[in-house]
Amino acid sequence: MIGFVKLPEPREVRASVDRVVDLTGDVREVHLRLVEPSRLEYRPGQYADFRIRNSRGEVEVRGFSIASEPEEKGLLFAAKILPHGLAGAYFRGLAVGSEVSLRAPLGGFALSKDGGFSRLFVGTGTGVAPLRGMIRHLLLRRGEKGPVTLLFGVRHAADAFWEKEFRALERDHGNFRLVLTLSQPPHDWEGARGRVTDHLERLVTHVRDLEVYVCGWPAMVEEVSRRLFERGLDPARLRRERFD
Ligand SMILES: Cc1cc2nc3c(=O)[nH]c(=O)nc-3n(C[C@H](O)[C@H](O)[C@H](O)COP(=O)(O)OP(=O)(O)OC[C@H]3O[C@@H](n4cnc5c(N)ncnc54)[C@H](O)[C@@H]3O)c2cc1C
Repeated sequence: MIGFVKLPEPREVRASVDRVVDLTGDVREVHLRLVEPSRLEYRPGQYADFRIRNSRGEVEVRGFSIASEPEEKGLLFAAKILPHGLAGAYFRGLAVGSEVSLRAPLGGFALSKDGGFSRLFVGTGTGVAPLRGMIRHLLLRRGEKGPVTLLFGVRHAADAFWEKEFRALERDHGNFRLVLTLSQPPHDWEGARGRVTDHLERLVTHVRDLEVYVCGWPAMVEEVSRRLFERGLDPARLRRERFD
């Protein structure tokens, strides 16, 4: 049985926006400063429910993965701005100093506490958000020395936000590798091409000592899981978060 760390109790959180960065044409990075409570216990990979008022004045919730790891200051998120979405309009309207109300931490998408594994992280688009916190935590806090691979799929090179940060991690940690794949690459692109599922075969040579974390839109998560289970991966060694 896979061993997971104990998950903290969720809390009602008041926060304010510290910084907003447009990472791509439709992905916004939001840094929050915690107001009440001033510290929040969470596991890298968990998410927060944002309370958002709709046009009728009712409060709705939308989940967003926490992209920071607990040792970083405040909370970090990467939100895809859907043109007609409630959360899309909300994140588009956030400015420095805006007050935010959320419930966190939620969910069980968290690192196992077991050692001795190769770890494969698979994310598409903003699905890479919780993986960022998990990978940083593994490499920087736990001092993980086993192989850690991030398979990150986006459409165009310009969509690959945080690539620089992951490349810097690669330089500092010989056991970490970023495989960035573009589904619509320019003709002179020398990196990986196609969808994340096109690269599983070559990246996963054996499943016995492998732990996998997958995050993104449901169809991708299902397809990656199916293919790895077919290869013989123990379902207990695959954790997934679906952006339903
Ligand atoms: C646990 C969890 C964690 C999540 N973490 C993140 C995160 O870190 N970053 C992030 O960007 N999102 C994340 N999501 C998804 C997020 O919660 C919203 O569902 C998403 O951003 C759409 O919300 P919205 O209010 O803008 O759109 P809605 O108002 O819900 O929908 C507006 C319209 O867009 C359609 N639509 C909804 N989703 C999509 C889509 N993916 N593509 C095309 N059309 C769509 C709907 O059918 C509807 O017609 C997460 C979801 C879950 C459950």
